[in-house]
Amino acid sequence: MLTEVLERSRGLVEDTTYRRALDWKKAGGKVVGCFPVYTPVELIHAGGMLPLGVVGGGTSVELAHADSRFQSFVCSIAKSTLELGFQGRLGLLDAILFSSICDVARNLSSVFKRNFPGVHVDYLHYPQNMSSAGVIDYMESELRRVRDNLQRVCGVEISDDRLSASILVWNRWRALIADLYALRRDEPQKISTVELYLLFRAGTLMPVEEHIPLLEASLAEFRSRTAKPRDCIRVVVEAAFCEQPPIGLIEVLEEAGCYIVDDDLLRGWRFFDTPVGEEGPPLRSLAAAYVDGSTYSSVRHDWRKKRWEGLIDRVRLSRADAVIFMPAKFCEPALFDYVLYREALEKASIPHLMVEFEEKMWTFERTRNEVETFVESMLFD
Ligand code: SF4
Repeated sequence: MLTEVLERSRGLVEDTTYRRALDWKKAGGKVVGCFPVYTPVELIHAGGMLPLGVVGGGTSVELAHADSRFQSFVCSIAKSTLELGFQGRLGLLDAILFSSICDVARNLSSVFKRNFPGVHVDYLHYPQNMSSAGVIDYMESELRRVRDNLQRVCGVEISDDRLSASILVWNRWRALIADLYALRRDEPQKISTVELYLLFRAGTLMPVEEHIPLLEASLAEFRSRTAKPRDCIRVVVEAAFCEQPPIGLIEVLEEAGCYIVDDDLLRGWRFFDTPVGEEGPPLRSLAAAYVDGSTYSSVRHDWRKKRWEGLIDRVRLSRADAVIFMPAKFCEPALFDYVLYREALEKASIPHLMVEFEEKMWTFERTRNEVETFVESMLFD
């Protein structure tokens, strides 16, 4: 069963025609694209619509038109997502949500609005001052605005009851993803990061009700696997929260001797450290979860929880030996934070390595050599 699930997951992840979402659409459903990092998927789900992870074109998209809309020094995800739109591959979207993660996402949202007038484009302004007394009120009002707009897309009232039911479903989904992460952290020989990533990312491309049973069954199979531990170093991967690295690059890290025991791949889809509150007004619960229950991130501004302290905590909790800092090329939030992270890691005497990537990276030999050298320097020191 597991092999079949992983093959299906890989098929979905590598397919930029979004075939499962197209089936949903053909059956009369509506589809809402979720550009990274965090999107309140519960609002979409509660309207009976499919939240679809839109994270660029990977290796499959040749840029023909998008280059002319952006400067050359912009991350790949912005250009390839726009190109997917120009090539008609995002024609299935009824709406797409962007958020205030960086200037590039802000511009992309505007370019989308101008070029695809038939699609509802919304832009979420997340709070920048988490210690303000009004921050949860503000976040709640922003979520209410987005919900009201989504109601016009789906033609259904997104009532509190519907939203509360969606919170339960997504809490269950995130709990299963967290269980898989915990298994990989505790027994990394039983589940590789490529397997975990494919399975996890497939869930951003299909209805959550279909994905939950796959997660449950896969988790049981991974747990019962027998595998001997290898001679590897334990690493945390940081900075891949938005644009996603090629799967081949993750494979190279693992083959070069890294057990990835924590990462921030697709971080926004598991943004909360604790479940969203299941009692009380649901918009308020979602707002409070963002303000008080979400993880540290380079695109979340919160001086109460310093990001570099968050990284050090993550290293300690996962019992990691080192950090692989893996930002997308030209990703400003990640690259600016590298300075802060590096300083904190050096103070804590935690070894680290920088591995920059682009979506369309074909050869990994130089990276393989660098990672192997890094691993050997730690294993045989
Ligand atoms: S990869 Fe970085 S710069 Fe590009 S859209 Fe995402 S957060 Fe912004």
